[in-house]
Amino acid sequence: MKKKKIARINLSSSSSQFETVEGRYLNLGGRGLTSNLIADEVPPQCDPLGPENKLVVAAGILAGTSVPNSGRLSVGAKSPLTHTIKEANAGGAVARKLANLGIQALVFEGISKEPVSVVIDSKGVSIVQSDDLNDSLISECIEKLRNTYGDDIGIVSIGPAGEKRMLASAVATATPDFFPRIAARGGLGAVMGAKNLKAVVVDDRGCFPPEIKDKALLKSAVKAFSQGIMAHPLAEGFKNFGTPMLVGLVNEIGAIPTKNFSRGRFAGADKISGEAIAEMMKARPNSNPSHRCMSSCILRCSNVLTDAAGEVIVSGLEYETLALVGSNCMIDDVEIIARINRICNDVGLDTMEVGASIAVAMEAGVLEWGDGPAALELVREISTGSDRGRMIGNGCVYAGKILGIERIPHVKGQALAGYDPRGLKGTGVTYATSPMGADHTCGNALPSPANPDYDPTAPAGQAPVSKFLQSYFAAIDTLGLCLFASLPALDIPELKQQLIECVAAVLDEPLDQGYLERLGQMVLQTERKFNDAVGFKPEDDRLPLFFSEETLSSNEQRFDVSNEELDSVNPILS
Ligand code: SF4
Repeated sequence: MKKKKIARINLSSSSSQFETVEGRYLNLGGRGLTSNLIADEVPPQCDPLGPENKLVVAAGILAGTSVPNSGRLSVGAKSPLTHTIKEANAGGAVARKLANLGIQALVFEGISKEPVSVVIDSKGVSIVQSDDLNDSLISECIEKLRNTYGDDIGIVSIGPAGEKRMLASAVATATPDFFPRIAARGGLGAVMGAKNLKAVVVDDRGCFPPEIKDKALLKSAVKAFSQGIMAHPLAEGFKNFGTPMLVGLVNEIGAIPTKNFSRGRFAGADKISGEAIAEMMKARPNSNPSHRCMSSCILRCSNVLTDAAGEVIVSGLEYETLALVGSNCMIDDVEIIARINRICNDVGLDTMEVGASIAVAMEAGVLEWGDGPAALELVREISTGSDRGRMIGNGCVYAGKILGIERIPHVKGQALAGYDPRGLKGTGVTYATSPMGADHTCGNALPSPANPDYDPTAPAGQAPVSKFLQSYFAAIDTLGLCLFASLPALDIPELKQQLIECVAAVLDEPLDQGYLERLGQMVLQTERKFNDAVGFKPEDDRLPLFFSEETLSSNEQRFDVSNEELDSVNPILS
């Protein structure tokens, strides 16, 4: 098999070089590779927006193969929001194209004097001036790059929020049909903006997918894994309603964040549910309730919501946005939530952080609870750079400090996602102890019919659940597999085995049943070592006090997992 490469691009000196992937980076990709490169090369105490930080963009281990739902793109750096090591990932076309070029990762170093874009194709790396892209919205940037480079490209870019180094800014990729997809968390758009790097274009014309030695083994493993995913009850729900189907479920169990995490049920949940959105789409030309963000996707959980005239409002209206911008702000108008989502996608911001910030502003009386039009106006101010806009664009901790609010739902500076930790205590443990601040994708402990004995509100026994899930999803992020495609394998052991067989065929080496767990543990240990060197201590692995002091009215629960149990997730590393 051809050896994979890492492209190292020094923006200070406008130079680049290719390195062959060797040593312990061999057989790594995605989060495993971004986190190991950051841990090895970035000084833990560095300024995340300074020249010593690096931005790593990596394709997962399975990128470019026929494994379904493979091809997520990982972006990693030291986070300016959490000051921890950070990885965020998104779909889109870039990971597949990097794999076709034989490139496992791009490492961006230093700071360019002028705004630039980087173009990567079969001839190598070009660093080009990009003044024409300055201040452009992400959708405008995608359009301009298509006009310049054609439609056979993958795109990574930031919007004005990243250029202005706002702490909640995100890195966007483009789907094969050129809608933005957002690697939202951790303010990684600000790291890219601080490097004066506006966009990366990946063009794989003339290249071919990675070689697979045992094609028959991969074919049979892919067939079995794909059939297992599609036979799982989740598949039908994802296809029909996408992640908005979670609105009803999480509201029902009393854990949907409502009124700045003060309630777990939202009276307007029916209006923003997956069913309501699917009904709305039926009446709107060009809406699509079953869109895919990557060409390899078989689940199609994404969507495209249009207005009555058929003009696209937003693509990828997801549960987390409905929960943080919707119920958490008491806004029950899908149209307004979608328009706020569109602005966030265009300026390049994490909708979860923005929703949490708006709720904090509502708690401070800056605007009324449930006032969607006022929230939309506030979010519009992010583009104009007003003080209020900057406050929202810098995340909920920043907004809370400015406004004198103490109930700020965050861990290590990052807003909680769409699950109240008093209703889902295993997820609460993940929020508290993940190496990346409050991040549900690191280990969301939702109840499942396949595990009827699991009680998500029990005060004890949550740490082992979270620990297992954190390890599992660290491995999944390293494979570059969409986490939704990995959920059935949590319920069905044979499916997990088929996934491991897919990886074994791609890597051309035998892998045993413990492969995913070992891989995930290695990634987590690397990340924790980095955070230890930054100066994080066990007492940082805690939820804000109000979650243990205030009872959630929907289920009469407080977050009562003990500190000893929290500390058992991350034993002190020797
Ligand atoms: S299931 Fe959804 S998030 Fe996953 S690859 Fe498909 S469209 Fe993207």
